[in-house]
Amino acid sequence: MELEKRDFLKALGGIAALTTAGSASARSDRHTDDDFELEDFARAYLNNDDVLDNRELETLLHRLENENPELVTVDQIGQSNQGRPLYSVSVGKEKNPSVLAIGQQHGDEYFMAEGLLAVAQFLTSGDPRAERILENRTVHLVPRVNPDGFVVPHRYNIDPEAPEDDPESGIFQGGSGIFAADEPGVGWDINRYNRHDWTQHELYQNFPEEYPENPVPEAVAIHAMMDEVDPEWVIDFHRMGSFMVDYESEWPGPEWARDDTDDDAEDETEGFVPPDPNDPGDGYIGTGAMLWPLHEDVDPEIRELSKQLVVTMRDDLIEPDDELRRVEYVRYPGGTYGGIARNGHALAGYGSVLVEVAGGTLGDRLFRARQPFDAMLAAAEATADGSLYTVDTARVDELPEAGTDVGIEEDGAE
Ligand SMILES: [Zn+2]
Repeated sequence: MELEKRDFLKALGGIAALTTAGSASARSDRHTDDDFELEDFARAYLNNDDVLDNRELETLLHRLENENPELVTVDQIGQSNQGRPLYSVSVGKEKNPSVLAIGQQHGDEYFMAEGLLAVAQFLTSGDPRAERILENRTVHLVPRVNPDGFVVPHRYNIDPEAPEDDPESGIFQGGSGIFAADEPGVGWDINRYNRHDWTQHELYQNFPEEYPENPVPEAVAIHAMMDEVDPEWVIDFHRMGSFMVDYESEWPGPEWARDDTDDDAEDETEGFVPPDPNDPGDGYIGTGAMLWPLHEDVDPEIRELSKQLVVTMRDDLIEPDDELRRVEYVRYPGGTYGGIARNGHALAGYGSVLVEVAGGTLGDRLFRARQPFDAMLAAAEATADGSLYTVDTARVDELPEAGTDVGIEEDGAE
Protein backbone atom coordinates (compact mmCIF):
# COMPACT_ATOMS: atom_id res chain seq x y z
CA MET A 1 0.00 0.00 0.00
CA GLU A 2 3.03 2.22 -0.11
CA LEU A 3 2.55 5.21 -2.31
CA GLU A 4 5.52 7.03 -3.71
CA LYS A 5 5.87 10.64 -2.76
CA ARG A 6 6.02 11.65 -6.39
CA ASP A 7 2.49 10.34 -6.89
CA PHE A 8 1.25 12.66 -4.21
CA LEU A 9 3.14 15.62 -5.62
CA LYS A 10 1.85 14.80 -9.09
CA ALA A 11 -1.68 14.68 -7.71
CA LEU A 12 -1.14 18.05 -6.13
CA GLY A 13 0.24 19.49 -9.35
CA GLY A 14 -3.09 20.99 -10.32
CA ILE A 15 -3.24 22.84 -7.04
CA ALA A 16 0.24 24.26 -7.48
CA ALA A 17 -0.63 25.47 -10.97
CA LEU A 18 -3.66 27.30 -9.69
CA THR A 19 -1.95 28.89 -6.73
CA THR A 20 -0.25 31.68 -8.63
CA ALA A 21 -3.21 32.37 -10.88
CA GLY A 22 -5.63 32.19 -8.01
CA SER A 23 -4.54 35.07 -5.81
CA ALA A 24 -6.94 37.56 -7.39
CA SER A 25 -9.92 35.31 -6.85
CA ALA A 26 -8.73 34.63 -3.33
CA ARG A 27 -8.97 38.30 -2.54
CA SER A 28 -12.33 38.77 -4.15
CA ASP A 29 -13.67 35.76 -2.27
CA ARG A 30 -12.53 37.22 0.99
CA HIS A 31 -14.36 40.44 0.30
CA THR A 32 -17.64 38.91 -0.78
CA ASP A 33 -19.24 39.56 2.57
CA ASP A 34 -18.99 43.25 3.21
CA ASP A 35 -21.45 43.16 6.05
CA PHE A 36 -19.44 40.65 7.98
CA GLU A 37 -16.77 42.04 10.29
CA LEU A 38 -15.15 38.81 11.37
CA GLU A 39 -12.85 38.73 8.39
CA ASP A 40 -10.55 40.89 10.48
CA PHE A 41 -9.74 37.85 12.58
CA ALA A 42 -6.00 37.36 12.50
CA ARG A 43 -4.69 34.53 10.43
CA ALA A 44 -2.16 33.25 12.89
CA TYR A 45 0.24 31.74 10.43
CA LEU A 46 -1.45 31.61 7.07
CA ASN A 47 -2.92 33.97 4.59
CA ASN A 48 -5.45 33.17 1.94
CA ASP A 49 -2.95 32.97 -0.88
CA ASP A 50 -1.24 30.05 0.80
CA VAL A 51 -4.24 27.76 0.95
CA LEU A 52 -6.78 26.55 -1.55
CA ASP A 53 -9.50 29.18 -1.60
CA ASN A 54 -13.12 28.48 -2.48
CA ARG A 55 -12.86 29.59 -6.09
CA GLU A 56 -9.67 27.66 -6.72
CA LEU A 57 -11.34 24.59 -5.31
CA GLU A 58 -14.38 25.08 -7.54
CA THR A 59 -12.20 25.64 -10.61
CA LEU A 60 -10.10 22.56 -9.95
CA LEU A 61 -13.12 20.35 -9.38
CA HIS A 62 -14.75 21.43 -12.62
CA ARG A 63 -11.51 21.03 -14.52
CA LEU A 64 -11.16 17.53 -13.17
CA GLU A 65 -14.69 16.75 -14.33
CA ASN A 66 -14.12 18.27 -17.77
CA GLU A 67 -10.92 16.33 -18.29
CA ASN A 68 -12.44 13.02 -17.12
CA PRO A 69 -16.07 13.09 -18.19
CA GLU A 70 -16.40 9.30 -18.03
CA LEU A 71 -15.04 9.00 -14.53
CA VAL A 72 -15.65 12.19 -12.57
CA THR A 73 -18.88 13.84 -11.50
CA VAL A 74 -18.97 17.12 -9.61
CA ASP A 75 -22.25 17.88 -7.88
CA GLN A 76 -23.48 20.75 -5.83
CA ILE A 77 -24.96 18.96 -2.82
CA GLY A 78 -26.31 22.08 -1.18
CA GLN A 79 -25.24 25.50 -0.16
CA SER A 80 -23.75 27.12 2.89
CA ASN A 81 -25.74 29.44 5.10
CA GLN A 82 -24.34 32.38 3.11
CA GLY A 83 -25.14 30.73 -0.18
CA ARG A 84 -21.76 29.35 -1.18
CA PRO A 85 -22.00 26.09 -3.12
CA LEU A 86 -21.09 22.85 -1.34
CA TYR A 87 -19.39 20.52 -3.79
CA SER A 88 -18.91 16.81 -3.90
CA VAL A 89 -16.66 15.09 -6.39
CA SER A 90 -17.31 11.47 -7.23
CA VAL A 91 -14.79 9.28 -9.01
CA GLY A 92 -15.81 5.87 -10.30
CA LYS A 93 -18.49 3.83 -11.97
CA GLU A 94 -22.04 4.27 -10.87
CA LYS A 95 -22.66 0.56 -10.42
CA ASN A 96 -20.05 0.16 -7.69
CA PRO A 97 -20.70 0.55 -3.98
CA SER A 98 -19.37 3.77 -2.60
CA VAL A 99 -17.25 5.26 0.16
CA LEU A 100 -17.05 8.86 1.34
CA ALA A 101 -14.60 11.31 2.86
CA ILE A 102 -15.44 14.80 4.06
CA GLY A 103 -13.11 17.60 5.07
CA GLN A 104 -13.05 20.97 6.73
CA GLN A 105 -16.28 21.04 8.68
CA HIS A 106 -14.32 23.60 10.67
CA GLY A 107 -13.40 26.51 8.43
CA ASP A 108 -9.97 27.18 9.86
CA GLU A 109 -8.65 23.62 9.61
CA TYR A 110 -6.47 23.86 6.53
CA PHE A 111 -4.98 21.37 4.11
CA MET A 112 -7.61 18.67 4.53
CA ALA A 113 -9.40 19.94 1.39
CA GLU A 114 -6.08 19.95 -0.46
CA GLY A 115 -5.44 16.36 0.60
CA LEU A 116 -8.88 15.18 -0.54
CA LEU A 117 -8.62 17.00 -3.83
CA ALA A 118 -5.32 15.22 -4.38
CA VAL A 119 -7.16 11.92 -3.81
CA ALA A 120 -9.59 12.79 -6.60
CA GLN A 121 -6.77 13.74 -8.92
CA PHE A 122 -4.81 10.59 -8.16
CA LEU A 123 -7.85 8.40 -8.83
CA THR A 124 -8.06 9.83 -12.36
CA SER A 125 -4.36 9.24 -13.04
CA GLY A 126 -4.64 5.72 -14.47
CA ASP A 127 -2.18 4.50 -11.85
CA PRO A 128 -2.62 0.75 -11.20
CA ARG A 129 -3.49 1.45 -7.58
CA ALA A 130 -6.18 3.90 -8.64
CA GLU A 131 -7.53 1.33 -11.09
CA ARG A 132 -7.68 -1.33 -8.40
CA ILE A 133 -9.75 0.94 -6.20
CA LEU A 134 -12.10 2.04 -8.97
CA GLU A 135 -12.62 -1.51 -10.14
CA ASN A 136 -14.76 -2.14 -7.05
CA ARG A 137 -15.64 1.16 -5.43
CA THR A 138 -16.79 4.66 -6.25
CA VAL A 139 -15.09 7.32 -4.13
CA HIS A 140 -17.08 10.37 -3.07
CA LEU A 141 -15.32 13.38 -1.57
CA VAL A 142 -16.61 16.59 -0.05
CA PRO A 143 -13.34 18.47 0.36
CA ARG A 144 -14.77 21.52 2.14
CA VAL A 145 -17.98 21.29 4.12
CA ASN A 146 -17.61 24.81 5.52
CA PRO A 147 -16.74 27.34 2.80
CA ASP A 148 -18.16 30.24 4.86
CA GLY A 149 -16.02 29.52 7.89
CA PHE A 150 -13.00 29.23 5.60
CA VAL A 151 -13.48 32.79 4.40
CA VAL A 152 -13.51 34.30 7.90
CA PRO A 153 -11.50 32.15 8.82
CA HIS A 154 -12.99 30.52 11.87
CA ARG A 155 -14.29 27.22 13.14
CA TYR A 156 -18.03 27.85 12.73
CA ASN A 157 -20.28 28.41 9.77
CA ILE A 158 -21.64 31.96 9.43
CA ASP A 159 -25.13 32.61 10.73
CA PRO A 160 -26.26 36.00 12.08
CA GLU A 161 -29.19 34.19 13.70
CA ALA A 162 -27.09 31.69 15.60
CA PRO A 163 -27.25 32.01 19.38
CA GLU A 164 -24.19 32.13 21.58
CA ASP A 165 -22.72 28.88 22.80
CA ASP A 166 -24.36 27.21 25.75
CA PRO A 167 -21.72 27.31 28.49
CA GLU A 168 -22.81 23.80 29.48
CA SER A 169 -22.10 22.50 26.00
CA GLY A 170 -18.79 21.06 25.09
CA ILE A 171 -17.33 18.30 23.07
CA PHE A 172 -18.08 15.67 25.66
CA GLN A 173 -21.60 16.51 26.73
CA GLY A 174 -24.83 17.59 25.14
CA GLY A 175 -25.93 20.50 27.32
CA SER A 176 -28.90 22.23 25.72
CA GLY A 177 -27.64 21.32 22.26
CA ILE A 178 -26.45 24.86 21.48
CA PHE A 179 -22.99 24.43 20.05
CA ALA A 180 -22.04 27.75 18.56
CA ALA A 181 -19.45 30.53 18.78
CA ASP A 182 -19.00 32.31 22.11
CA GLU A 183 -20.74 35.42 20.75
CA PRO A 184 -24.29 35.41 19.37
CA GLY A 185 -24.75 36.05 15.66
CA VAL A 186 -21.51 34.38 14.59
CA GLY A 187 -22.27 30.80 13.64
CA TRP A 188 -22.86 27.15 14.51
CA ASP A 189 -20.30 24.42 15.01
CA ILE A 190 -21.28 22.23 12.06
CA ASN A 191 -19.76 19.15 13.65
CA ARG A 192 -22.28 19.12 16.48
CA TYR A 193 -25.32 18.81 14.19
CA ASN A 194 -24.77 15.42 12.61
CA ARG A 195 -27.75 13.65 14.09
CA HIS A 196 -29.45 12.47 10.91
CA ASP A 197 -32.65 12.03 12.91
CA TRP A 198 -33.17 15.61 14.06
CA THR A 199 -35.68 14.61 16.75
CA GLN A 200 -32.78 12.90 18.54
CA HIS A 201 -30.70 16.06 18.76
CA GLU A 202 -30.55 17.95 22.08
CA LEU A 203 -31.28 21.26 20.37
CA TYR A 204 -34.58 19.91 19.10
CA GLN A 205 -35.36 18.18 22.37
CA ASN A 206 -34.79 21.38 24.38
CA PHE A 207 -36.19 23.90 21.87
CA PRO A 208 -38.63 22.08 19.58
CA GLU A 209 -40.57 25.25 18.76
CA GLU A 210 -37.52 27.35 17.92
CA TYR A 211 -35.69 24.62 16.02
CA PRO A 212 -38.19 22.26 14.39
CA GLU A 213 -35.52 21.59 11.75
CA ASN A 214 -31.75 21.32 11.85
CA PRO A 215 -30.56 24.96 11.56
CA VAL A 216 -27.18 24.03 10.03
CA PRO A 217 -27.57 23.69 6.25
CA GLU A 218 -24.05 22.35 5.72
CA ALA A 219 -24.76 19.36 8.00
CA VAL A 220 -28.16 18.77 6.40
CA ALA A 221 -26.56 18.73 2.94
CA ILE A 222 -24.11 16.03 4.00
CA HIS A 223 -26.90 13.89 5.46
CA ALA A 224 -28.97 14.21 2.28
CA MET A 225 -25.97 13.31 0.16
CA MET A 226 -25.33 10.23 2.30
CA ASP A 227 -28.95 9.18 1.87
CA GLU A 228 -28.45 9.53 -1.86
CA VAL A 229 -25.13 7.76 -2.41
CA ASP A 230 -25.36 5.36 0.55
CA PRO A 231 -21.64 5.08 1.33
CA GLU A 232 -20.45 2.06 3.26
CA TRP A 233 -18.40 4.39 5.43
CA VAL A 234 -17.42 8.02 5.88
CA ILE A 235 -14.12 9.42 7.10
CA ASP A 236 -14.18 12.91 8.56
CA PHE A 237 -10.89 14.81 8.32
CA HIS A 238 -9.93 17.58 10.78
CA ARG A 239 -6.96 19.49 12.12
CA MET A 240 -6.24 19.47 15.82
CA GLY A 241 -3.89 20.85 18.41
CA SER A 242 -0.77 18.86 19.20
CA PHE A 243 -0.52 16.10 21.77
CA MET A 244 2.39 14.20 23.13
CA VAL A 245 2.21 10.46 22.57
CA ASP A 246 1.72 8.45 25.73
CA TYR A 247 2.65 4.84 25.06
CA GLU A 248 2.30 3.88 28.71
CA SER A 249 -1.29 4.60 29.58
CA GLU A 250 -4.14 2.18 29.21
CA TRP A 251 -7.52 3.27 28.01
CA PRO A 252 -10.51 2.12 30.05
CA GLY A 253 -12.86 2.52 27.08
CA PRO A 254 -16.05 4.56 26.92
CA GLU A 255 -18.07 4.72 30.10
CA TRP A 256 -20.91 2.53 28.85
CA ALA A 257 -18.54 -0.30 27.96
CA ARG A 258 -16.79 -0.47 31.32
CA ASP A 259 -17.07 -2.99 34.06
CA ASP A 260 -19.33 -1.39 36.67
CA THR A 261 -17.33 -2.93 39.46
CA ASP A 262 -14.28 -0.92 38.42
CA ASP A 263 -15.00 2.18 40.51
CA ASP A 264 -11.70 3.88 39.74
CA ALA A 265 -12.26 3.97 36.01
CA GLU A 266 -15.74 5.35 36.47
CA ASP A 267 -14.56 8.12 38.74
CA GLU A 268 -11.79 9.20 36.45
CA THR A 269 -13.80 9.75 33.33
CA GLU A 270 -17.25 10.61 32.16
CA GLY A 271 -17.43 9.37 28.63
CA PHE A 272 -14.02 10.48 27.48
CA VAL A 273 -10.38 10.22 28.34
CA PRO A 274 -8.65 13.58 28.73
CA PRO A 275 -4.95 13.91 28.18
CA ASP A 276 -3.33 13.63 31.59
CA PRO A 277 -1.67 17.01 32.28
CA ASN A 278 0.76 15.38 34.70
CA ASP A 279 2.04 12.83 32.25
CA PRO A 280 4.35 13.98 29.47
CA GLY A 281 4.20 10.66 27.63
CA ASP A 282 7.49 9.61 26.11
CA GLY A 283 8.37 13.04 24.85
CA TYR A 284 7.19 12.44 21.32
CA ILE A 285 4.67 14.63 19.48
CA GLY A 286 1.94 12.81 17.59
CA THR A 287 1.30 13.80 14.00
CA GLY A 288 -2.37 12.95 14.18
CA ALA A 289 -5.20 11.14 15.91
CA MET A 290 -8.09 8.85 15.07
CA LEU A 291 -11.18 7.57 16.77
CA TRP A 292 -14.11 5.30 16.00
CA PRO A 293 -17.73 5.84 17.14
CA LEU A 294 -18.23 5.55 20.90
CA HIS A 295 -21.95 6.25 21.22
CA GLU A 296 -23.62 3.39 23.02
CA ASP A 297 -26.39 2.91 20.48
CA VAL A 298 -24.13 2.40 17.47
CA ASP A 299 -24.66 -0.99 15.82
CA PRO A 300 -21.76 -3.24 16.91
CA GLU A 301 -21.03 -4.21 13.31
CA ILE A 302 -20.74 -0.56 12.34
CA ARG A 303 -18.36 0.03 15.22
CA GLU A 304 -16.25 -2.97 14.16
CA LEU A 305 -16.07 -1.76 10.58
CA SER A 306 -15.01 1.67 11.83
CA LYS A 307 -12.25 0.14 13.96
CA GLN A 308 -11.04 -1.83 10.93
CA LEU A 309 -10.71 1.45 9.08
CA VAL A 310 -8.74 2.99 11.95
CA VAL A 311 -6.26 0.11 12.03
CA THR A 312 -5.92 0.09 8.23
CA MET A 313 -5.23 3.82 7.97
CA ARG A 314 -2.81 3.93 10.88
CA ASP A 315 -0.84 0.97 9.55
CA ASP A 316 -0.40 2.83 6.29
CA LEU A 317 0.39 6.20 7.81
CA ILE A 318 3.03 5.07 10.28
CA GLU A 319 4.92 3.02 7.73
CA PRO A 320 8.49 4.31 7.81
CA ASP A 321 9.29 6.67 4.99
CA ASP A 322 12.65 8.35 4.73
CA GLU A 323 11.13 11.31 2.98
CA LEU A 324 8.94 12.15 5.93
CA ARG A 325 9.34 12.64 9.61
CA ARG A 326 8.32 9.85 11.89
CA VAL A 327 4.55 9.67 11.95
CA GLU A 328 2.44 8.51 14.85
CA TYR A 329 -1.31 8.51 15.27
CA VAL A 330 -2.76 8.51 18.76
CA ARG A 331 -6.27 7.71 19.89
CA TYR A 332 -8.19 10.98 19.80
CA PRO A 333 -9.58 11.82 23.26
CA GLY A 334 -13.13 12.16 22.01
CA GLY A 335 -16.40 11.11 23.57
CA THR A 336 -19.85 9.73 23.02
CA TYR A 337 -21.71 12.84 21.83
CA GLY A 338 -24.23 11.86 19.15
CA GLY A 339 -24.12 15.08 17.14
CA ILE A 340 -20.46 14.68 16.20
CA ALA A 341 -19.94 13.19 12.73
CA ARG A 342 -18.01 10.20 14.06
CA ASN A 343 -20.98 9.16 16.22
CA GLY A 344 -23.84 10.72 14.27
CA HIS A 345 -23.07 9.05 10.94
CA ALA A 346 -22.50 5.73 12.71
CA LEU A 347 -25.88 6.06 14.44
CA ALA A 348 -27.37 6.50 10.97
CA GLY A 349 -25.83 3.18 9.93
CA TYR A 350 -22.57 4.15 8.26
CA GLY A 351 -19.04 3.13 9.20
CA SER A 352 -17.55 6.34 10.56
CA VAL A 353 -14.08 7.47 11.59
CA LEU A 354 -12.56 10.72 12.76
CA VAL A 355 -9.06 11.53 11.49
CA GLU A 356 -7.30 14.57 12.96
CA VAL A 357 -4.03 15.86 11.57
CA ALA A 358 -1.95 17.69 14.16
CA GLY A 359 -1.02 21.33 13.88
CA GLY A 360 2.16 22.57 12.37
CA THR A 361 3.55 25.45 10.39
CA LEU A 362 2.91 26.66 6.88
CA GLY A 363 6.15 25.02 5.82
CA ASP A 364 4.59 21.69 6.70
CA ARG A 365 1.66 21.97 4.35
CA LEU A 366 2.56 19.14 2.01
CA PHE A 367 3.29 16.94 4.99
CA ARG A 368 -0.14 17.80 6.42
CA ALA A 369 -2.05 17.45 3.17
CA ARG A 370 -0.44 14.13 2.46
CA GLN A 371 -1.94 12.51 5.53
CA PRO A 372 -5.62 12.63 4.45
CA PHE A 373 -4.41 11.61 0.99
CA ASP A 374 -2.60 8.51 2.27
CA ALA A 375 -5.27 7.64 4.81
CA MET A 376 -8.16 7.84 2.37
CA LEU A 377 -6.40 5.83 -0.33
CA ALA A 378 -5.41 3.16 2.18
CA ALA A 379 -9.00 2.88 3.41
CA ALA A 380 -10.46 2.81 -0.11
CA GLU A 381 -7.97 0.25 -1.38
CA ALA A 382 -8.48 -2.11 1.57
CA THR A 383 -12.24 -1.83 1.05
CA ALA A 384 -11.96 -2.48 -2.67
CA ASP A 385 -9.72 -5.54 -2.29
CA GLY A 386 -11.59 -6.87 0.74
CA SER A 387 -8.62 -6.88 3.10
CA LEU A 388 -10.40 -4.35 5.31
CA TYR A 389 -12.85 -6.98 6.48
CA THR A 390 -10.15 -9.30 7.79
CA VAL A 391 -8.51 -6.70 10.06
CA ASP A 392 -8.49 -7.71 13.72
CA THR A 393 -10.40 -4.93 15.47
CA ALA A 394 -8.64 -5.61 18.77
CA ARG A 395 -5.65 -3.93 17.15
CA VAL A 396 -7.18 -0.49 17.83
CA ASP A 397 -5.58 -0.97 21.25
CA GLU A 398 -2.26 -0.42 19.49
CA LEU A 399 -3.07 3.26 19.16
CA PRO A 400 -1.24 5.03 21.96
CA GLU A 401 -3.18 7.47 24.06
CA ALA A 402 -2.85 11.20 23.62
CA GLY A 403 -0.60 12.63 26.31
CA THR A 404 -0.11 16.25 27.23
CA ASP A 405 -1.57 18.91 24.96
CA VAL A 406 1.53 20.85 23.93
CA GLY A 407 -0.31 23.72 22.30
CA ILE A 408 1.80 24.26 19.20
CA GLU A 409 -1.30 25.52 17.49
CA GLU A 410 -4.56 26.70 18.97
CA ASP A 411 -6.45 23.63 19.98
CA GLY A 412 -9.28 22.63 17.68
CA ALA A 413 -11.66 20.14 19.24
CA GLU A 414 -13.06 17.40 17.05
ZN1 LIG B 1 -12.25 20.16 13.48
